[in-house]
This record gives sequence, structure tokens and C-alpha cells, in this order.
Amino acid sequence: MTFATLGLIEPLLRALETLGYQTPTPVQAQAIPAVLAGRDLMAAAQTGTGKTAGFAVPLLQLLAMEGPKVTSNSVRALILVPTRELAEQVHESVRQYAEHLPLSTYAVYGGVSINPQMMKLRKGVDLLVATPGRLLDLFRQNALKFNQLQTLVLDEADRMLDLGFSEELSNIYRVLPKKRQTLLFSATFSDQIRLLAGQMLNDPLSIEVSPRNVAANTVKQWLYTVDKKRKPELFVHLLRKHKWKQVLVFAKTRNGVDALVDKLQGLGVNADGIHGDKPQATRQRALDRFKASEIQILVATDVAARGLDIEDLPLVVNFDLPIVAEDYIHRIGRTGRAGATGEAISLVCADEVNLLSAIEMLTRQGLTRHMEQDFEPEHRVPDTDASGLVIKKPKKPKKPKASGGGKRNLGKWVDSGETVADVPVKPVRKVPVFNTGPRKKK
Ligand code: AMP
Repeated sequence: MTFATLGLIEPLLRALETLGYQTPTPVQAQAIPAVLAGRDLMAAAQTGTGKTAGFAVPLLQLLAMEGPKVTSNSVRALILVPTRELAEQVHESVRQYAEHLPLSTYAVYGGVSINPQMMKLRKGVDLLVATPGRLLDLFRQNALKFNQLQTLVLDEADRMLDLGFSEELSNIYRVLPKKRQTLLFSATFSDQIRLLAGQMLNDPLSIEVSPRNVAANTVKQWLYTVDKKRKPELFVHLLRKHKWKQVLVFAKTRNGVDALVDKLQGLGVNADGIHGDKPQATRQRALDRFKASEIQILVATDVAARGLDIEDLPLVVNFDLPIVAEDYIHRIGRTGRAGATGEAISLVCADEVNLLSAIEMLTRQGLTRHMEQDFEPEHRVPDTDASGLVIKKPKKPKKPKASGGGKRNLGKWVDSGETVADVPVKPVRKVPVFNTGPRKKK
């Protein structure tokens, strides 16, 4: 496949050639035709996949081929990014792609004087790259109008939310024309991102660079059923029993991370935690130390753990199951990399049965269940099924008051005159069922 076969015009092909881009990357191969066709996009792609060209190149083509000339203080396409550095980086790429097109491009962000930006916007800009806060400032000072806006790109949407831009995004969203094309790029898809996508996108095409429902088959996965309150104790027990050397642990909340780290440190275990409340520098330091094996246990939330690339990580423990099933695949993908074998163990309590069911459905496999002696749960985790069902255990039939009256059958007493074959058969499962094993096709 070439860029020409994707339908790009000559000035763009020339710019890409100058940059040495010979073949479209997978995200470009999918995004370019979709954007040119005017579709909304929801794309899972990280930095390094070539996503910038994936949205910017077709966007520039649309701006060059269609629509009116930009009027004063207006923008025709807006790319929102989380940080100043990224605004500069994306704008630099856009500038290079637009080299041979008669389009104006610009970047605005905070931390620098607003006046030159206001001056520049007076003539209007075809494509503007912006951080959310400065964009709103400019809008409130009447330096910007959105009446000509035809395309909005949210780049690194997950990072924008991490950085607390959710209110700014809602405010921006409110003042944009309803009829527009929207492209959303995010490394992961949390509930918040899905909510944002639901508000902002219209019948989006989903693009995924690596298939999300394929769990690495080099990773051995299983779970322990356990009561919620006993999870920390079970974790410590397993850590000691199996002499785990280096473990990446995922917990659901920031408080959960802190509580587990405190407990482990209190027991003299070399542990640290990373989550979104901690400054970037602290997170990086903990991660670097974990990578250098100076920390044995690193406990993280999904947000903070994104993008972690740790060589030879043998074990991932899901202390809590993720709220979004796809995150399970991201999490276990931290081990078993590059052909190495890894293990992923989940501690699952009864409350989490629906999350478990969603994961089993997504990965199309039942996770083998174990119970650790002395940690058998009081609250049984209902059986699950890779088809997404939580199997309700049929109620046990009441014992007859008088002894010897009838035969016990599959969940129902057989009345006199009724044969076994007349009784609707519902299998009664023994409790608990540990191993879900290979699933029957429904
Ligand atoms: P991005 O993921 O957009 O940050 O791009 C990552 C890097 O890949 C940047 O340095 C791009 O210039 C480069 N790049 C993007 N697309 C291609 C391509 N099709 N061929 C070669 N390099 C590319």
C-alpha cells in the first residue's frame, strides 16, 4: 500500500516523500481514507504509531479541497492537545505536511504571552493546534470564533482528562458548531473517554492499531476467588509463598494503591506506588527504580501505568479487576512481551463478577479459578461464562419435612404422577466451581 492509493493529493504526497514516509503505518492506512470520507473517528493509538499524520494529512487535504476561505478570527480545523510541548510538536508536523498547500496553520498554548497569539488570529487560521485552557482564554477575549469550524481533533484525549481538562473540554464542546467532523485519539479507553466519545462523536468508526481482544497467548492467566476485605492479606501470603521477585500490581483507585503500598511497606516489603495524584517526576522515579529492580513491587492505577514498557516483567497481579475490560488486556500485556512467558493473576471478589464476565467475554476464554487454602471466600463469586453470562445458581430445593418423601432431582421435586422427563431440567452446579475450563459454544 502507498500513500497515493489512499487517495492523497500530489502536494501532500510530495511533502510525505520529502519526510521519507514511504509506506503508511497501520493507523494511517485506516484513518486517512476514513477522514477523507468525512467520518468521525474513535482511534486507539499511542505516540509513535504515526497517528499525527493519520489525522493531520487527510485533514489538510479536506481544508485544501473544500470549504470557504477562512475569515478573520476564525479557525476551520482545531487540534486539541494536552500539553504545550505536544502543541509545538504537532504543529511542527502539520507545518511540514502542509508545506506545498496554501493553508495557514498556528499553535496556541498557555505559559506565554497571549497578545501575539491574538494578533496572529486576527486574519484567521485554517488549522489551529491548541491546549484547552489557552483556547478558552482566547475565545473569551473574542480573539477566536468557531462558526467556520468543520473539524475537531482531540489528540491524546486520555491525557487531557488525566490532566484535569474535562471541564475545559465540556466548555469548548458547548461553543462549537454541532455539525462538524470529530476525530478522537486516545491510548486507552476508560469510562470517562467513552463518555466523552458518546457526547462528541457521531457514528464514529473505531480504529485499533493492535486488536484489543487478543490477550497475549504467552501470558498464563488465572484467578483466585477471595473476599474483598481479605485481598491484601492474600496478596502478602502469595508473595511470600511463591517468593515473587518483581511484580506489577494494578489497583482500581488511588486510595487503593496507597493503602496497599502502606501495608506492604509496613511489612518491610520494598514497594512503591504510582497514580495520577502523584507528580510526574515522582511517578517516573518510582518507575525507573522498578525497572532497575530497586523496587520489588510497584502498585499502580491504570492511568499511571499506561505506556509502561518494562523488560522481562514476569508477573502482573490484578489486585482489583479493571472497570473497563480492555484495560485487562493492556495490563496483562505488560508481561510476556517479545515472546517471553509471563503470568497474570487476578484476585477476584464477589462484587467483581460482572467485570470478570466482561473480561472473559472480551478475551473469549474463561479464566481458571483457584482458591487458596484458608482464604476461601465467604461471599462466593458466581460462575461466569465466556459468553458474558453470570450464571445464577438455582436455589436449592427445600428439604421435605417428612423423610422418605420423593427423590431429589435436578433442582425440582418430582411430584407423584410426574416423570423425571416431564420436569424442566436446570443443571444444579456444585458450589463453588473453580475451573471454567474450555467453554461450550452457545
Ligand atoms: P507520531 O506517532 O505521530 O508521533 O509519529 C511518530 C514518528 O513516526 C514521527 O517521527 C513521524 O515523523 C514518523 N512517521 C509517521 N508516519 C510515518 C511513516 N508513514 N513512515 C515513516 N515515518 C513516519
